[in-house]
Amino acid sequence: MKVTRQVIEVIDPIYVMEGAGVRLRRSIATQKLDYLDPFLLFDHFGSEDPNDYLAGFPMHPHRGIETVTYMLDGLVNHKDSMGNSGTLEKNDVQWMTSGSGIIHEEMPKPDKGKMEGFQLWINLPAKLKMTTPRYQEVKSTQIPELHCENGVKVRIIAGNMDGVKGAVTEIFADPMYLDVIIPRNSSFKQPIKRGHTVFAYVFEGEGIFGDFEEGSSKRETAVSSTEMVIFGDGDYIKAKTDQNYVRFLLISGKPLNEPIVRYGPFVMNTSEEIEQALIDLQTDNFVK
Ligand code: FE
Repeated sequence: MKVTRQVIEVIDPIYVMEGAGVRLRRSIATQKLDYLDPFLLFDHFGSEDPNDYLAGFPMHPHRGIETVTYMLDGLVNHKDSMGNSGTLEKNDVQWMTSGSGIIHEEMPKPDKGKMEGFQLWINLPAKLKMTTPRYQEVKSTQIPELHCENGVKVRIIAGNMDGVKGAVTEIFADPMYLDVIIPRNSSFKQPIKRGHTVFAYVFEGEGIFGDFEEGSSKRETAVSSTEMVIFGDGDYIKAKTDQNYVRFLLISGKPLNEPIVRYGPFVMNTSEEIEQALIDLQTDNFVK
């Protein structure tokens, strides 16, 4: 029997300062939720006030993880130790596999007074922690967009929906990353592989999540911007709207079930590997 995933937790993001002084809303990598295997961090950045972000993220290292940046508005100028540089613009995605190590800079800039986006960290399995760094930049126009009959609109950054393949493929965690808009008085249902972790991050409007069909398992939760919804196991997630529309990211991935030792931008399996990362950085051996 196919099972709808129930809402098991709703998380209120907290405000934190990162980089050289960027104010962010963080939902994963907090005291309340250290990680949600395989996801290690989730930040929502953006503000009407450039003082909240212009200091940006000057040169810093990463090892053992993937970082995924999705822009809703504004720009991010970036450059890295692999020789890449460029500008992420509205609706673009950067999927960066740090592997053995990259050093990069990410500097947000407003466009028409606006700047908003998300950064997600996905863990790499032990066997790929020290893989060759890889960097994929996906322009907005390369991201498939589905327009469903009931008015639902979905951008498929990674994963599959209705047989349409997302822009980013061949990622170990087998992730799905969707940007979903449900108009008022409509609904949405998406299969998720059993055993995969899944969350929704509501950043506009409000929606109802859970098993809202009539019957013994009926249990629904109203969620409004900005909150994160974490689901239990099952085959589908369901969402619907009432008088308001809702927009959310729907993100899933395969848990690794491996030990996690983290120290800032390094996430490894043992404390020895963290020490090695620090030694490599001090002795100029970080970038392989
Ligand atoms: Fe970074």
